[in-house]
Amino acid sequence: MHGRCKKLRLPPGMIMKLEEFGLWSRRIADWSKTYLETLRERPVRPATRPADVLNALPVTPPEDATDMAEIFADFERIVPDAMTHWQHPRFFAYFPANAAPASILAEQLVSTMAAQCMLWQTSPAATEMETRMVDWLRQALGLPDGWRGVIQDSASSATLSAVMTMRERALDWRGIRSGLAGEKAPRIYASAQTHSSVDKACWVAGIGQDNLVKIATTDDYGMDPDALRAAIRADRAAGHLPAGIVICVGGTAIGASDPVAAIIEVARAEGLYTHIDAAWAGSAMICPELRHIWEGAEGADSIVFNPHKWLGAQFDCSVQFLRDPTDQLKSLTLRPDYLETPGMDDAVNYSEWTIPLGRRFRALKLWFLIRAYGLEGLRTRIRNHIAWSNEACEAIRDLPGLEIVTEPRFSLFSFACTAGDEATADLLERINSDGRTYLTQTRHEGRYVIRLQVGQFDCTRADVMEAVAVIGELRGEG
Ligand SMILES: *Cc1c(COP(=O)(O)O)cnc(C)c1O
Repeated sequence: MHGRCKKLRLPPGMIMKLEEFGLWSRRIADWSKTYLETLRERPVRPATRPADVLNALPVTPPEDATDMAEIFADFERIVPDAMTHWQHPRFFAYFPANAAPASILAEQLVSTMAAQCMLWQTSPAATEMETRMVDWLRQALGLPDGWRGVIQDSASSATLSAVMTMRERALDWRGIRSGLAGEKAPRIYASAQTHSSVDKACWVAGIGQDNLVKIATTDDYGMDPDALRAAIRADRAAGHLPAGIVICVGGTAIGASDPVAAIIEVARAEGLYTHIDAAWAGSAMICPELRHIWEGAEGADSIVFNPHKWLGAQFDCSVQFLRDPTDQLKSLTLRPDYLETPGMDDAVNYSEWTIPLGRRFRALKLWFLIRAYGLEGLRTRIRNHIAWSNEACEAIRDLPGLEIVTEPRFSLFSFACTAGDEATADLLERINSDGRTYLTQTRHEGRYVIRLQVGQFDCTRADVMEAVAVIGELRGEG
């Protein structure tokens, strides 16, 4: 290699010397520490306008090498002030994408080894650590012995894998051979509180939006089991092919959950495959006192939750648990000659469990995270977040001109201005332009509401109360 570089007479800046790599690694580590230490001083959402960053970047790529010092100076000048700071302790928007410091360290190591972990042979440690970490989390969430699982990039991918499995199981695996033409329409059932990733999974799996049947909910916004049973029977009578049910635990809009045990009872009676989407709320199931919310989950076929949301594993890290992986493997496994591992037919190759072939080493950050904080440390955070969310809800309830629209579910509630949608939207814009905190909106029963979820890994009670103070200060006359 060296000989070849010499012959080509590469210009001096073209190869980064390892001493320089070490120097910059240390400088970036120092920058990272200062960034995390001073995050509270930054606005959560930047004042950046569209095209600010685009215009700060040269239109054409450089022909010649640039010094790392200059690259890094430009990074500091252009990037941090144009970021929405997801690790900011006063980030109460969407759901969290937590990166606990211990998990960031693991990701630094992963990015240095930079392995592509598609097969056991390409990544023995990554594969076996994945098996162990998924099992640690299975135990942490109180799921039964014997369940297996896999780490995916996102809940969207896990749900697509489950929907493919529902489709193929219903078609007796004819779909992956000959496509869907000439088949009865596979039907998937979910409530209106289910995340849009379920709709997209139905698009991508060739099922189509019209064959995703949204089932009515009861007073508490959970799926109505009787309406579900009736819909399945009506579909059979109409010549459709009921295939599976996506069950929602901790929905994105207001945190609603379906009655898991009752839905699974219907699924069993009708022979349908079930997948629980607990992308956000699954992390909370490390607290035994919250598990009643998904009582019956051990009867499902598949469950997804994102340790990269509430638990603290840096994005991306989504765990799909499977009661028995056989049907999903039958739906997704392909083994061309060039991916065979001679003499190792029994090795676990996790790429065969999912849609993408290439995969990152995602288990290391779980290993660091779970050991650095312990399950008890992680539970304490979740319990605090829920308690503070309840406190914030009561404080906002007392503010004239505002009203609570949906009560806290886990650590999420929503509120609005009594004066109506326009006032609420204006208030949200004032809050987010102020920068001290960051919230987002949804529509609930046709009404524009502001969501507030408490879940940032290192936020404190004081951060939550400061957000409430900002809301009180900016609410105007309502
Ligand atoms: C965030 C979320 C998703 C989507 O998760 P990705 O990992 O971003 O695909 C799906 N369902 C629920 C309930 C969510 O909260």
